Amino acid sequence: MSKTKEKTQQFSFKAETKQLLNILIHSLYKDREVFLRELLSNASDALNRMRFEMVTNKDVLDSNAELKIHIKADKDKRTLTITDTGIGMTRDEIVENLGTIAQSGARNFLEIAKEKNGDVSQVIGQFGVGFYSVFMAAESVRVISRSFQPEGKAVSWYATGEDNFIIGEADMGERGTRIEIKLKEDASEFAEEFRLKNIIHKHSDYIGFPIYMGEEEKPVNKQTSLWRTSKQDVTEEQYKEFYKQTTLDFEDPLTHIHLVTDAPVQLYALLYIPAKAERNMFSLRKEDGLKLYTRNILIDEYNKDLLPEFLRFVQGVVDSEDLPLNVSRETVQSSGLMPKLKKVLTNQVMRELENIAKNKAEKYNEFWQEFGVYLKQGIAANPSDADAINPLLRFKTNLNPETWSSLDDYVARLKDGQKEIFYIVGEDPKSVLRSPHLDYFHSQGTEVLLLTDPMDSFMLMGLRKYKDFELKNVSQAEVDTSKKTDDQSVEENIPDPDFNSLIEQFKKVLDERVTDVRGSNRLTHSVARLADSDSNANPDLQRVYKYLGKEYEVPKKVLELNPSHTILKNLLGLERDSELQNIIIEQIYDSAMLVEGLHPDPSSIAPRVQQIIEAALKKG
Ligand code: ADP
Ligand code: MG
Repeated sequence: MSKTKEKTQQFSFKAETKQLLNILIHSLYKDREVFLRELLSNASDALNRMRFEMVTNKDVLDSNAELKIHIKADKDKRTLTITDTGIGMTRDEIVENLGTIAQSGARNFLEIAKEKNGDVSQVIGQFGVGFYSVFMAAESVRVISRSFQPEGKAVSWYATGEDNFIIGEADMGERGTRIEIKLKEDASEFAEEFRLKNIIHKHSDYIGFPIYMGEEEKPVNKQTSLWRTSKQDVTEEQYKEFYKQTTLDFEDPLTHIHLVTDAPVQLYALLYIPAKAERNMFSLRKEDGLKLYTRNILIDEYNKDLLPEFLRFVQGVVDSEDLPLNVSRETVQSSGLMPKLKKVLTNQVMRELENIAKNKAEKYNEFWQEFGVYLKQGIAANPSDADAINPLLRFKTNLNPETWSSLDDYVARLKDGQKEIFYIVGEDPKSVLRSPHLDYFHSQGTEVLLLTDPMDSFMLMGLRKYKDFELKNVSQAEVDTSKKTDDQSVEENIPDPDFNSLIEQFKKVLDERVTDVRGSNRLTHSVARLADSDSNANPDLQRVYKYLGKEYEVPKKVLELNPSHTILKNLLGLERDSELQNIIIEQIYDSAMLVEGLHPDPSSIAPRVQQIIEAALKKG
């Protein structure tokens, strides 16, 4: 072990770190080998940062040193030493970085440990618990580091996993970090080279810097990042592990897209569609965006210019040799390369989605339920994207309310002579099926898309036509009411004079609230429906205003009445202009507003309903 000088100082770990150490030391883990993955990933991070410094900053220590990792194991002494020529740490940095939990994964791990009462053996491998995972295998650890800043001094950090760590000076001439581990008695396997090589192949093969072992001159690892590795050489497991490591999502991704092209741009990309839209609380990815590398150097952690907004849920890495090496975010943006990259990547993701939609319907439904709203929003925001997105849309319909149908499915089922795609907009899938607007369509067996997601109203702004078919709101659709079906028990209509006088009474009571009251043959089961008068703004737009919370005025509509409905027949039987007749008229109007999802104050109906109940009981 390295000698440290006298001037030492003791620090206490932060409370959270103590908890973590306690769990790591006192439990048995079947996959504690992951500590090596964590240390190598830290070394690789440090080397990446070093490489970035070397491009942007000339004044660095050992500017000619090879960027590499070295592992030395001693079976007899039960020691393992990992050295990197990365960016190193100053005294302040080491106290900060190795005294508190930097990794959000570690915090997440603590939460789960609490939930599982410390039994974390099943999950530890999936989490990046970070540097501290070394204490699963270590009796004691000394970290010696020297920062790349030329004036820096070497520093030593020592801990046994108890509550404290000790900081001192150290002798270290070269830049980088050396981690000296004294292994626990039952962890001597990690001092055996063949075992270490195995672990490296399993978890860390794609680290982009050579990992040398002992005196060997050839690196142990493949040394190419996963996204630069050819597809045949990457296993499904490696794809998944890479995803989990970079996002800290615990679920497998829905799918991955691995892309290597030379034309029209040179590009490596490894993209993932997550299984869930919502990031977990401790996700490593705080924002949307892809990691952008040029020649293996990370230049942007969250690049948002590589995919359109509506694909912003896609995670992953893009790496291009064509980007200039001396990079700053500004030059990346302004180089004409970005739009080209974006086009290639967008096409690829869309093609993958189409592919899943076509060949794996089940999986596509999962995707749709999580991310459909992004696609709808894409149509709203950029109607020019609609052509690309439309085939990916999925709907429930009145005739197929439980399954998802595409617009192509709908079109394939069109009835003879039908020239429009009908839809109804409403608040939820159940109540929308009760809408009086559907009366006619039900009676004809015509299929209608059920648009009950708030985003649907926005989507409609960009979705007016699919192939040759206009989309038409059923509330506005012209229907041929002469086509009554046979199975419909045709009720007698109220005679015209009576019906007209009833209409007059409705007009008198509702007054300004409606633009007109009239009879309609398209109602079969419902008493009334609200239709749009021609002067009204588009009803879909009305809903958009409502969702946007804009000053919302209940639009004035035409109240259409069903001349054959029993309620209206009985209403005629009441004394004209009596209180009861009038409150029932009010109620018919309010109910129509309710099913429309337009009522501004639904609970205001309660007192009137009570009046009606009282009247009904009195009569009985
Ligand atoms: P994370 O890698 O997610 O940040 P870790 O617990 O693995 O969390 O590491 C904590 C911090 O310690 C790192 O962020 C880094 O600043 C520092 N660190 C760890 N290992 C090294 C290393 N080999 N070289 C330089 N800094 C390191
Ligand atoms: Mg780490």
